[in-house]
Amino acid sequence: MIVAGNWKMYRGPELDGLRGLDAIVCPPYTRLRECVDAGLTTYAQNVHWEAEGAYTGEISAPMLLELGVAGSLVGHSERRQYFGETDETVAKRTRAALDAGLKVIACVGETLAEREGGETEDVLRRQLSVLEPHPSLVLAYEPVWAIGTGKTATAAQAQEVHAAIRAVLRELGGSAGAELRIQYGGSVKPENAAELMAQPDVDGALVGGASLDPDGFAAIGAAAVAQRP
Ligand code: PEP
Repeated sequence: MIVAGNWKMYRGPELDGLRGLDAIVCPPYTRLRECVDAGLTTYAQNVHWEAEGAYTGEISAPMLLELGVAGSLVGHSERRQYFGETDETVAKRTRAALDAGLKVIACVGETLAEREGGETEDVLRRQLSVLEPHPSLVLAYEPVWAIGTGKTATAAQAQEVHAAIRAVLRELGGSAGAELRIQYGGSVKPENAAELMAQPDVDGALVGGASLDPDGFAAIGAAAVAQRP
């Protein structure tokens, strides 16, 4: 089970409440060092594909490694929606980060219009086809309609899509693809975390809003440990 908390562009909680946390934190860049120094497994929220260069506002894998950061999110739907992230740039970021030695959580998921249009599997196939299996790569299935909306996919909906993702991965990448771990993300809260993570193809959770509350986030981490230690 892999649980990660995405603090987005929020400062996030004081770290005292997170001591002993068995989960990844993805703070804003300004708090990366503080989280690393506190002994938390710390990921960035994005990473560029070049080691350095004229890319204003970006950060590179070597720079993150120098800080002691262990990995990065890539392709979060908010990056795709608001900042022009494409399947191609997601692939470039992912490959460069993995090659540099970072772990990666790569996010995929359909919008409400795509789901209602019956395109969920096609969208996921397109997003997954640019990602090569790697031991340090974890996927996060995040239906865009469930992110920050309070609408959670039901456990059955999550399981159905996770199983479909695994089938697509098997098709695209053979057994290495099928072994990738897949987190569910989208309004995960302490109240629904256990049921979501009880699904056989759900290997953890990517948590946004609820990760800003240390007690709630710790409860989600504990639900994951209870499920599959
Ligand atoms: C996220 O930011 O990845 C996310 C799933 O957010 P929330 O839990 O707030 O829906």
